[in-house]
Amino acid sequence: MTHAPLLILPPDVDGVARAAAVLRDGGLVSFPTETVYGLGADARKDRAVAGIFAAKGRPSFNPLIVHLPDMAAAEKYCVFNDDATRLADAFWPGALTLVLPLRPDAGISRLVTAGLDTLAVRVPDHPVAQRLLRAFGGPVAAPSANPSGRISPTTAAHVSAGLGNKINALVDGGPCSVGLESTIVSCVGRPALLRAGGIPTEALETCLGAPLALPDDPETPQSPGQLASHYAPLGTVRLNATEAQSGEVLLGFGPVSADLNLSPTGDLTEAAAKLFDYLHRLDLMGATRIAVSPIPDRGLGRAINDRLRRAAAPR
Ligand code: AMP
Ligand code: MG
Repeated sequence: MTHAPLLILPPDVDGVARAAAVLRDGGLVSFPTETVYGLGADARKDRAVAGIFAAKGRPSFNPLIVHLPDMAAAEKYCVFNDDATRLADAFWPGALTLVLPLRPDAGISRLVTAGLDTLAVRVPDHPVAQRLLRAFGGPVAAPSANPSGRISPTTAAHVSAGLGNKINALVDGGPCSVGLESTIVSCVGRPALLRAGGIPTEALETCLGAPLALPDDPETPQSPGQLASHYAPLGTVRLNATEAQSGEVLLGFGPVSADLNLSPTGDLTEAAAKLFDYLHRLDLMGATRIAVSPIPDRGLGRAINDRLRRAAAPR
């Protein structure tokens, strides 16, 4: 979507219906949750999700939390085991995010999961967030609505000051009950704490009847910051390649003849939207040597290059 002046909407049924329409059009909508204001996009649309990273100016692609109105909706996108069901029954709606196996046919953009086969999901407790998620009727990817590296927003004024010219709509639901971020628990294997937050660990352990594994525990292979770096294509990666050498598959950018082109017109948002999908396709093609065109190191290009440098690092 193009960026017309920011649409500031009231949190009533009408305002929320208009916000849902913006999400349906692939736009970016900031909305209140009980933790902080979120910056939401349709989690099934690559370009909309790329827009989140562009608006925040994030220098890397961290996986995003998908927001849903209830457990039944969450079950469409990921697989709950007994532990996950117990935690969701006890703490949803609320400040608990669960990392669960992604259903392969869920239709979630690979940019949301940073190419992982797990998905972080949360059911927020804020009435305006609930109203919006129900009006929209689909999965909403939403990190905090602040420029990367800045303080998380707890009022609509914070959001419009930080991102006002980069998003399409803002639902003003008043100040958030200044919350901590959500607690993140992985229920892939033994339940593990990935991030401390609004729900205390003790309450989770009482519910589970067992201690949580901790992020630095060798039994917990995944900690949020590092996790994304685990995803790399199977083939070796050579960066800043002006053309493919024999035996190489070229992942192009800009007006080059390539096996796969992230954006023939050199559009960084389009390239970001396609990146993880194309890395997967290279695996499916059986590419053992991958050459990648130079990508400008500005805007979303920084996050793209961060991901590609990790993919190219010796393993
Ligand atoms: P934020 O949306 O800014 O509150 O941050 C989301 C957090 O969830 C980040 O720390 C992510 O690394 C983490 N996260 C999201 N998806 C996953 C996932 N599939 N596995 C592990 N951590 C995740
Ligand atoms: Mg944040």
